[in-house]
Amino acid sequence: MSTPRLDIDLAKIRHNAATLVARLRRPGISVTGVTKACLGDPCLANVLLKAGVGGLGDSRIENIETMRRAGIRAPMTLMRAPMPSQVDRVVALADTSFNTELSVIRALSQAACKAGRRHAVVLMVELGDLREGIMPDDLDAMVRATLLLPNIDFKGIGTNLACRSGVVPDAQNMGELSRLADGLDRRFGPVISIVSGGNSSNLQWALNGADTGRINDLRLGEAILLGLDPLHRRPITGLHTDAITLVAEAIESKDKPSRPWGAIAQSAFGAMPGITDQGPINQTLLAIGRQDVDPAGLTPLQDIEILGASSDHLILDTSKCKVSVGSEIGFQLNYSALLRAMTSPFVTKTFVQPDDHRPSAPVLPTRSKPIGNFQQCH
Ligand SMILES: *Cc1c(COP(=O)(O)O)cnc(C)c1O
Repeated sequence: MSTPRLDIDLAKIRHNAATLVARLRRPGISVTGVTKACLGDPCLANVLLKAGVGGLGDSRIENIETMRRAGIRAPMTLMRAPMPSQVDRVVALADTSFNTELSVIRALSQAACKAGRRHAVVLMVELGDLREGIMPDDLDAMVRATLLLPNIDFKGIGTNLACRSGVVPDAQNMGELSRLADGLDRRFGPVISIVSGGNSSNLQWALNGADTGRINDLRLGEAILLGLDPLHRRPITGLHTDAITLVAEAIESKDKPSRPWGAIAQSAFGAMPGITDQGPINQTLLAIGRQDVDPAGLTPLQDIEILGASSDHLILDTSKCKVSVGSEIGFQLNYSALLRAMTSPFVTKTFVQPDDHRPSAPVLPTRSKPIGNFQQCH
């Protein structure tokens, strides 16, 4: 198989998605399956739909277009506020978009009229993380104006936390979102059918058994793909954390000193960290680099240490686990490493399709053992 590549086990992803869909059913919350980390790959989208998500969400219209071209008909939400230059595509491809600017909603309305379509709008509210959102005091005026626009269906409100500033979704900010929904229904309505509480970092709040109020939708990406709670990057019980593996190939393996020699200035990526002399080590180079992956987000599956990375090379200490040139080395990825690897045209994506007649592999306790055909340690 070609390297570098991402091995994506769709049976494990389906298990993760179905498990979260089932757990959130009790508090009455449906799941929007988020496809952006996989660039809207139709294989992933279909697996999420089979697992029972209510619809698909992506932040880029290009990814939504990929899924539409593959014939996927499910409801799709553009979760990043539309670019004014893209409103025609948004109206043509997405059922719903998240919005914060009246001028953009007006442009969506015009585009929808021109296309003879209707477009649904969810207004995003700022609740402290300071990324997108309308300040709560300005919400009434926005709703009033949105309700008047032709071919626009105002569907509800949402918020997004923990992405820019790490603000934790809790009873207080989620309670405020519920109260805002109640207030809008009282003054305008009933007008609110969607109250979208947030992303994977809302799971702790949503599943702790307390009242979840009006929140009836969460948009989940990382928790489904990586099985992790993004607030502390801890595994979520019962979910696979090894559904996606990065595999790269060794192109050099030699005993070398651990300390560089010569006068030291900056490297290609800034100042060098101090390197302590550990004497000679076995050093291996892999044919993958910063252009393909965030090296800080990789965890080797074997007893190997990552020493550094340049544009096209990953440098490993393989003293405890000798590697021969041409062999494959596997890694788990965090969200940042996954995003970059998915986006690199040099990384092949290999999907392992679920076998509909077999249950998925058992969930392994936290970190998994080396899998596949990786060379074993000597
Ligand atoms: C990416 C994104 C999500 C999904 O976040 P995860 O942490 O991957 O679950 C949800 N909402 C918005 C607006 C997003 O951009």
